[in-house]
Amino acid sequence: MTLSNGLPQKEFNDLLGNVREFRDEIVTPNVIDWERTRTFPSDAISSASNLGLLGMEIPPEMGGLGLSFSQKLKVLDTFSEVSMPYAFSLVNSHNVAARLARHGSANQRERYLSDLIRGKKLGSTALTEPSAGSDFSAISAHATPVDGGWNLTGEKAWITNAAASTVIVAYIQTEQGSRAKGIASFLLDGTSEEFERVAPYDLTGSHAIGTGGFRLNNYFAPHSDLLAPPGEGFAAALATINEARTYVATMCCAMVEASLREAVQYAGDRETFGRPIIEHQGLSWQLAKVANQLEAARALTEKAITVIENGDTNSAILPAAHAKKFATELAEPALAACAQAMGANGLREERLIGHRLTAARVANYVDGSTEIMTDRIAKSLSATYSPSS
Ligand SMILES: Cc1cc2nc3c(=O)[nH]c(=O)nc-3n(C[C@H](O)[C@H](O)[C@H](O)COP(=O)(O)OP(=O)(O)OC[C@H]3O[C@@H](n4cnc5c(N)ncnc54)[C@H](O)[C@@H]3O)c2cc1C
Repeated sequence: MTLSNGLPQKEFNDLLGNVREFRDEIVTPNVIDWERTRTFPSDAISSASNLGLLGMEIPPEMGGLGLSFSQKLKVLDTFSEVSMPYAFSLVNSHNVAARLARHGSANQRERYLSDLIRGKKLGSTALTEPSAGSDFSAISAHATPVDGGWNLTGEKAWITNAAASTVIVAYIQTEQGSRAKGIASFLLDGTSEEFERVAPYDLTGSHAIGTGGFRLNNYFAPHSDLLAPPGEGFAAALATINEARTYVATMCCAMVEASLREAVQYAGDRETFGRPIIEHQGLSWQLAKVANQLEAARALTEKAITVIENGDTNSAILPAAHAKKFATELAEPALAACAQAMGANGLREERLIGHRLTAARVANYVDGSTEIMTDRIAKSLSATYSPSS
């Protein structure tokens, strides 16, 4: 289900111009520093609210910009050219606001929606645990009913924005051993005493994602903080997963396209053996291969976007899996080919290809790993390609 129908083209083009300006002023000059100093740029993420980007897909009557899904992806594309980690953090906070706009109670919206849209609070969505990732139904953080609400205990790990988020949608088991059947979701307050933040992880790159975890130590959640009741949490978590897979695909395309443009320019300027290196077939064919695969990844991503905008969640499962698998598998070798075309200069930090390469690695895990995408496609084989289908 997409939330909004989108802005008129002229208005959206103006917004995109402002996004580029904001990116070039706030993100581009700082990307390398954030990595060097292992900084989670919470202020830079919050300040995207000045353009309304923390509520980009939320309808204007709820305080958002009212972008369509494809318009949201163009914004993420624009940031990902420079920093996919920044774009990923931004969209993850936005997603919490969007979930409240879609499914939150009036009370929950009143307490959190405006602060999330205005960047006063950042959001996270927490499924993963130290011992459960791909197999989400195996989570062990559990909720026990108590007077007036629930007692929550357990640990979440690998959560985007966990370095600073204070509005957290957490998926918790209410009936041990029941897998998907007992999963509920709760809105957590990251400033509560019973919410213990785990220090952000030292990652190879991608510190701007602010990945970390938290422990719930007998955390009391009143009934009003229940978001999806027991039994509905699993489906709620998966309801927007195809959208997430599709925007991860578009982020990979953006990183590859930005690098390809730089590589083509470099290869046109740099000469060896009396001519620009792009005129050496051995080099230009490497970049032609990147261009060819990029076009295919963009086409798969566009297909997923179209299905999602048509509103059929089930029909989006396969296109989103194809798009994410293809784009993430393409990104690392394609980025390496672009770096190779720039010779040793491709290794310079300010070229950002190293930054994009570590981000492309991250893309292989988030919102369903590459193997899980392959598994989705494998499971659809007989329905899609049987002689009678
Ligand atoms: C930077 C970053 C940000 C993240 N942000 C969030 C977030 O905001 N919220 C959140 O909940 N989680 C988040 N995650 C966690 C992410 O969703 C998990 O990493 C992912 O689900 C994989 O789980 P895992 O790492 O535990 O690997 P595992 O599930 O332990 O899998 C290990 C390996 O085995 C493969 N594998 C597993 N099952 C199968 C199978 N059936 N067939 C073949 N291969 C298989 C996997 O693909 C993987 O390669 C984030 C992760 C990263 C790196």
